[in-house]
Amino acid sequence: MLNITNTTADGHIKLFIPGPVEVSEKTFRAFCHPQVGHRGSEFPALYESIHPRLQQLFGTQGPVYLATSSAWGVMEGSLRNLTQKKVLNCMCGAFSDKWLDVSKRCGKQAEGLRVEWGEPILPEMIDKKLASGEFDALTLIHNETSTGVMNPLTDIAAVVRKYPEVMFIVDSVSSFSTVPIAMDELGIDVLLTGSQKALAMPPGLALFSTSERARARAATIHDRGYYFDFLEFHKNWEKFMTPSTPTTGHIWALQSKLEDIFEEGLVARYARHSKLNSMVSDWVIANGFEHFAREGYRSKSLVCVKNNRDINVPAFCSALKKKHKVAINGGYGKIKGVTFRVSNMGDESEATMAELLQWMTECLPA
Ligand SMILES: *Cc1c(COP(=O)(O)O)cnc(C)c1O
Repeated sequence: MLNITNTTADGHIKLFIPGPVEVSEKTFRAFCHPQVGHRGSEFPALYESIHPRLQQLFGTQGPVYLATSSAWGVMEGSLRNLTQKKVLNCMCGAFSDKWLDVSKRCGKQAEGLRVEWGEPILPEMIDKKLASGEFDALTLIHNETSTGVMNPLTDIAAVVRKYPEVMFIVDSVSSFSTVPIAMDELGIDVLLTGSQKALAMPPGLALFSTSERARARAATIHDRGYYFDFLEFHKNWEKFMTPSTPTTGHIWALQSKLEDIFEEGLVARYARHSKLNSMVSDWVIANGFEHFAREGYRSKSLVCVKNNRDINVPAFCSALKKKHKVAINGGYGKIKGVTFRVSNMGDESEATMAELLQWMTECLPA
């Protein structure tokens, strides 16, 4: 066994930021698996062995693909594979706002459906837009990590299903496996996630699934490119391979992570995230803060705290780092400093969250 440590390294700051999150010693060791040739027999056997569990997490009977990139690779790829006419980009925070910019950079006709940060995207807003008949694709971030908003996916999906021409592209980077998402049942055409957030693995792997409709659409589009070509992924998936060299370390880590997830059980995993999230919520209220996200539309995997007490957020974060070797996030993009964020993704427990919250209380200015 290699003498590699992760969390015990000297000076390590434990991450409670909403991605990347802390990687367990077990996951990290699995990541450090010796190299294998990915066109030999070992890699396809590994991929095939984890596939049923991936399907279960994705809520699909369809293929689950593994891409060597962060989530943005597949987010951009989805636009390139599926947009022919025009894409509607739902915008409610830093990540979802950027999707409009990316659509334009890919040369796609695109329009934003904007709400104030902290507000959710509502089904009726989408219905009104799609009724114009202008759009053939829609992007939605399920859990907007910058604002702590979780959009009402089930109700939005019901609306999108009224428009069979519209490809429904959903980013679940910070919600995947923390709440159930039934891809097939909801009629999602692309469901994607990344490794370093809700899955608590090192960054660098994106996972996604496509519907049969999505692949049929892709087949009609001729400038899909190569690296994220959905049809290349599909053709290779049939042999449990990837179009180009996979990040095999991640896939060993994924196998290990799936063992953890299914040992805990999905229902227990969802309940744990919900419980830990409510502990953070209780801290927010008990300490005179407010939530940034509107009630009823809040994430289960992080909390975005509104700095209504007007504390010095950078000083608060750096006290936590210095005294307790933990990192929380001091707000993202235009809400830096006026918010701060705490993640409860990954392998956290009631004990580790309670400890963090205690330290946060101690580090608050009097
Ligand atoms: C972090 C994040 C992304 C971007 O992920 P990268 O790994 O930087 O590509 C996309 N969407 C959401 C919701 C995120 O939280």
